[in-house]
Amino acid sequence: MPMLNMRFVLPDHVVDLNRVAELTGIRRAGETIEIGAMTRQRDLEFSQDIADACPLMSEALTHVGHRQTRNRGTIGGSLCHLDPAAELVCVAAALDAVVEVIGPNGRREIPFAEFPAGYMSPAIDYTEIVSRLTFPVWPRETGHAFVEFSRRHGDFAIVSAAAMLLLDGAGRITRAVLALGGVAATPLRMRDVEAALIGQVASIELIGKVAEMCRDVEAVGDVYVPASYRQHLACVMSRRALETALSRAGKSAAAAH
Ligand SMILES: Cc1cc2nc3c(=O)[nH]c(=O)nc-3n(C[C@H](O)[C@H](O)[C@H](O)COP(=O)(O)OP(=O)(O)OC[C@H]3O[C@@H](n4cnc5c(N)ncnc54)[C@H](O)[C@@H]3O)c2cc1C
Repeated sequence: MPMLNMRFVLPDHVVDLNRVAELTGIRRAGETIEIGAMTRQRDLEFSQDIADACPLMSEALTHVGHRQTRNRGTIGGSLCHLDPAAELVCVAAALDAVVEVIGPNGRREIPFAEFPAGYMSPAIDYTEIVSRLTFPVWPRETGHAFVEFSRRHGDFAIVSAAAMLLLDGAGRITRAVLALGGVAATPLRMRDVEAALIGQVASIELIGKVAEMCRDVEAVGDVYVPASYRQHLACVMSRRALETALSRAGKSAAAAH
């Protein structure tokens, strides 16, 4: 719809998937949660299953457009539109979602890391549709945070950050994830930052240090902000997301014992 609205595409035909009931729904399946491509963003926002299994997504959804757009927008539409600043795109990158597509040759699964073929271009054939997204469920004691900087609430993020931290009983980081949206043509996983966190005793000082590693990230400049400003925001958003994730991980771990 945004591409039609802005006259970027002028298709001969538009195929309406709204009435394909099999493409909608949220289902917990063991240590994963499966979401039909046509599931509305608003249904995800209010889903208790999503809040329990994937709180990072619940938090990210509060930043997606406005309640009017979330009433109609779908998770599959957001991932296929593949705006690098879209919150659900950043969450899918952070959590290593798996994208299921269906076409004339049957079903196949694409790890989200291989899903963006380029700027706003999903790696699916024109004869295929996305049918389902699968997200892994992290342990309950994981700390999560989704933060973003946008000019007004509800705008696409200029830069967003999604973080997940899991600590052992001694406060050492055993799993860490950091993804950035809006910085480059596709969402970025900051794997060097993740590697620098894992195995370390978590602290605000450590987070401040590793967040600075985002200073050199390859960033795009556009009419809104130069690349150097996005690099600055990448550091600030990473620090905020990791600090919040850490504060929540501490609380969850304390509650779990
Ligand atoms: C005013 C406004 C503000 C917005 N703000 C934000 C924001 O802040 N953050 C954000 O993330 N998004 C934002 N959006 C985008 C919105 O959240 C939707 O993701 C977007 O409009 C796509 O809508 P849709 O799900 O109806 O998909 P559509 O518009 O129907 O589809 C989008 C693209 O994906 C393709 N597609 C859709 N479903 C499938 C499928 N199952 N298989 C294969 N291809 C498919 C379509 O062919 C099309 O190319 C905003 C939109 C508007 C209009």
